[in-house]
Amino acid sequence: MASHIMPTYGRLEITFDRGEGAWLWDENGKQYLDALSGIAVCGLGHAHPAVHEAICKQSGKLLHTSNIYRIAVQEQLADWLIDLSGMTNVFFCNSGAEANEAAIKIARKYGHERGIDKPAIIVADKSFHGRTLATLSATGNPKIQKGFEPLVEGFIRVPYDNMAAITDAIRQHPNIVAILVEPIQGEGGINIPASDYLSNIRKACDQHNLLMMLDEIQSGMGRTGKFLAYQHNGILPDVCTLAKALGNGVPIGACLASGKAATVLTAGNHGSTFGGNPLACSAALAVLETLDKDSLIATAETKGEAICSGLAGLLRNNPHIVEIRHKGLMIGIELDAPCTELVKMALVNGLLINVTQEKVIRLLPPLIIDDSQIKLLVDTLGMLIMQFTGQFSPVSDHAA
Ligand SMILES: *Cc1c(COP(=O)(O)O)cnc(C)c1O
Repeated sequence: MASHIMPTYGRLEITFDRGEGAWLWDENGKQYLDALSGIAVCGLGHAHPAVHEAICKQSGKLLHTSNIYRIAVQEQLADWLIDLSGMTNVFFCNSGAEANEAAIKIARKYGHERGIDKPAIIVADKSFHGRTLATLSATGNPKIQKGFEPLVEGFIRVPYDNMAAITDAIRQHPNIVAILVEPIQGEGGINIPASDYLSNIRKACDQHNLLMMLDEIQSGMGRTGKFLAYQHNGILPDVCTLAKALGNGVPIGACLASGKAATVLTAGNHGSTFGGNPLACSAALAVLETLDKDSLIATAETKGEAICSGLAGLLRNNPHIVEIRHKGLMIGIELDAPCTELVKMALVNGLLINVTQEKVIRLLPPLIIDDSQIKLLVDTLGMLIMQFTGQFSPVSDHAA
């Protein structure tokens, strides 16, 4: 179909017209169960009444004034985020990549203040941090970088979930100032590190005076069963970035910092015209109030468990399942072969899913998904995986 949009996405031939909770309807009125939430954005589902009301009220009052002035709703949102995260200061922006840009600038300035002329940040293989030049340089995926060289310098790459590699890098490079990782890798294939990975990074950062920076853009906002994934580990990073579900679809990002990182950026160092404007902040405030009022975060763990144990049951004799892994509602089902085709099969069957790293079915359902929707998701996806892997040539079954 002819369109004047730049061809930057491999889009599916489908247009959604409206949504409600975990449901979406396309232009022809066909109904779909959304198990992707606009890539972990609509945590409260579609057309949530609290977000709708907040946006309507705010747009009738004041949309934007710029950061030349104080913004009451921005200050209120910062108070909530500080309360929920244990951090101390917030910079607001409009996307995940921008939140990570702020984190990278904090790390560099922190280094310069310590007399390090060429500060470097440790980043991980298979990471995803965004599409701006600095964040794509931090990203551990050569496909995302190809064609955009020269990359931004100052990133040192290590394998994910490998503490020895971090220790080695720190020993080899005296100019390291920070470590930036996702607590759970999303685009990288729902990779859940060893339970002591984050606390060991915390220790290394304390020992060597480095900033621990966590990209919680996908894992944050309650998705893993805690407001932030690092809260499973009882640690505090120095910097933490948020975006995606923060505004439930209204663009907003945030870079949270504490301790020695909290006041590195000062007047004139950084800014954003739109960042933290009244519209976006009122949406985000409504999201935080709803998460709290409906006690939604605590349900993510039981819901994720229900989905994964349901699928594990249906697929227990399927030899093509490598692993089903999850933390709350951040779910990966790894097959032993490329399975992107499943996305289209699911669409035909009224289900929205995603495949990342070619072999990992990724589910990021909204936190408001209910029991009957969970059952529909499990039954439909289980059936589709059986159907899809049934086409494969049989693998030798050692048990038989
Ligand atoms: C989506 C994502 C980003 C980038 O966010 P944008 O809003 O697309 O710039 C960065 N890091 C992680 C972990 C993400 O999932």
